[in-house]
Amino acid sequence: MEITAVGGYEEVGRNMTAVKIGGDTIIIDMGIRLDRVLVHEDTDITKTKKEELVRMGVIPDDSVVRGNVRAIALTHGHLDHLGAVSKFVSKYNAPLIGTPYTVELAKRGIRADGGRYTNPVYAVEEGEILQVTPEISLEFIRATHSIPQTVILAVHSPHGTLVYANDFKFDDSPIIGEKTDYTRLKELGREGVKCLIVETVRVSEEGRTPSEKIAQKILEDSVARSDPEKGLIVTTFSSHIARISSITNAARIAGRTPILLGRSMEKFVGLAENMKILELPEDAHLYGSPESVKKILHSIVRDGKEKYLLVVTGHQGEPDALLTKIANKKFGYVIEKGEEVIFSADIIPNPMNVANRYVLETKLKLQGARLFKGAHVSGHASREDHHDLLRMLQPENVIPCHGDLAMLSSYAELAENLGYELNKNIRLVRNGQRVAV
Ligand SMILES: [Zn+2]
Repeated sequence: MEITAVGGYEEVGRNMTAVKIGGDTIIIDMGIRLDRVLVHEDTDITKTKKEELVRMGVIPDDSVVRGNVRAIALTHGHLDHLGAVSKFVSKYNAPLIGTPYTVELAKRGIRADGGRYTNPVYAVEEGEILQVTPEISLEFIRATHSIPQTVILAVHSPHGTLVYANDFKFDDSPIIGEKTDYTRLKELGREGVKCLIVETVRVSEEGRTPSEKIAQKILEDSVARSDPEKGLIVTTFSSHIARISSITNAARIAGRTPILLGRSMEKFVGLAENMKILELPEDAHLYGSPESVKKILHSIVRDGKEKYLLVVTGHQGEPDALLTKIANKKFGYVIEKGEEVIFSADIIPNPMNVANRYVLETKLKLQGARLFKGAHVSGHASREDHHDLLRMLQPENVIPCHGDLAMLSSYAELAENLGYELNKNIRLVRNGQRVAV
């Protein structure tokens, strides 16, 4: 089994891995690197050529992929795992495979890019095993994360089984979907796992990552205690469907009408609603286009802000996100003294996000807003969750990914504590490198 680290082995983002077994190759994930998109401010990735995006470090360099690509497997719908599908898909004569929500997001991404593709698309249920060549089958194991229908992927072959856990958390009380299929992971451990490729985004955090239920409770309390005479805005990830469910339910309990705003909100939430993954309260409304957002904000101001709860993107302070535009008074919606803003997300800590968020918070405060933070739990496994996964799978080899060198090294340290040896069965690889297991 030859594993090629295509992207995500030097950074958080642009995940892509190729697994070659005999002459056949399986590609896992095709992601973009979001902070690089923000650095190149004027870049519209739908209008930028693949080669240029590779040069900018936004998408992986897939020229290192070898073998006859027989399948493109997608683990979940986050852009750092499928945002580059539109750039690569037509190059490969192979099906796109993932859970229904994931492949639907991938298809929409390709369409938004104006791309054409003739690849078959297979939507598989969690737990399903799909034979992709006479020798290779792919198993989509149910896992929890911060977007619905995430899977841990197992690649089965006569040369052994490879498990790809990127991304995941262990949440025994998920708001949407069921908990990770521990029984199957343990079974795989007993059958024998040749190699584990595993994310490292929060491996340095001590303990286990708390359940999404915790964020739900914090949100319910914060919304219930909000000033009934003032406006209330909550910002979170538009793809975090469980969180959005909790926010809209908190609004319902507090007697406020939830209004969800923005194009990405429309994309992720609208699709989740259509696919019956999410059930919004009956009085909830979703507005995507800037014109419709502007219109509804006007009527909310007229009608009385205190009757509503606005759910918007912009928790990272991204310049073109809705909360930033509201803070910049772009929609004729003025933040008033005592209006409350709940940040239901932590920033991804890079200097640009820190700076953007500082500017956003300062503007909101200057307008008199009261800010509330901490209504959030991570979607990524912490140190002890990683320990648990290693114990369940007992892989012969581990390859940490989805992190910079510090994160990969931190994982290596954890694995060392459990008896693994660096450069023997802990393999640290950089983008473009190959490793045989
Ligand atoms: Zn993810």
